[in-house]
Amino acid sequence: MTDQLQRFLFDDFEIRGEIANADNSFSEIIKNHNFSPEVANLVGELLIATTLLTAMLKFEGKIAVQLQGDGPVKMAVINANQDLQVRGTARVDGDTTGLSFSELVGKGHMMITITPDEGERYQGIVDINHDSLSACLENYFEQSEQLPTRVILHAKHGEKSCAAGLLIQTLPATSDTHEEDFQHVSALAQTVKAEELYELTQEDLLFRLYHQDALRLFEKQSITFKCSCSKERCLSSLASIAPEEIMDIINESGAIEMHCEYCASDYRFEVNDLQILLGDDHNQQH
Ligand SMILES: [Zn+2]
Repeated sequence: MTDQLQRFLFDDFEIRGEIANADNSFSEIIKNHNFSPEVANLVGELLIATTLLTAMLKFEGKIAVQLQGDGPVKMAVINANQDLQVRGTARVDGDTTGLSFSELVGKGHMMITITPDEGERYQGIVDINHDSLSACLENYFEQSEQLPTRVILHAKHGEKSCAAGLLIQTLPATSDTHEEDFQHVSALAQTVKAEELYELTQEDLLFRLYHQDALRLFEKQSITFKCSCSKERCLSSLASIAPEEIMDIINESGAIEMHCEYCASDYRFEVNDLQILLGDDHNQQH
């Protein structure tokens, strides 16, 4: 079983954890793009990171984790909601062969944006000055929430694409031993190999790592690829453009064409499709 998120708690420590794999969603996200293996793997790691961060959604809403930098990967983003519907894309300019994480992204920052369906939007930003995405996230939690966190992310694009990861995080702690407890749990987490994350069931992997510690597992959640683009959304974004400008484009190219850079869907609107936006005066022009 793939594309699942499993949250867990240690009975005897003030530590929570999450394990995620998302092979199918990873394949879906990169299917419509012509990414190099380096960029695809970065997107896969970002996908796992974002699903692990959905725990920050306390209410219904959306989370986006975005990287922006001056390297060949200008931008990479994954969006998710509380139901773990995910989508993502990246903008790349230049050769990425053989580049490491910090070479791909260059100087820049990571932005975590949480948009609750009701309530205020939250945005956290950290500089990218680490060699891996997982180190950037650990740094983010250290800076923004003072919560020691271990993040392990792996992705491999190929004939069979795999993306998986593990997060261990201290709860706001009260016990005297929480630092040692975290060291213990984190040291075991760091022994995980990519192949184990890809191939073992989540139960088997957690048993392999933590059979000496009592764990409480929550109900698994499914991760699914779903793009939120639609004809209606395109129309509402066109509504912010002056009707005269829309008519100029239609007169020039016959239609307005829109492309979703997440799922590669194409939308085409001819003058008859846009009557509500343009008003009645434009009906007879074609
Ligand atoms: Zn789309």
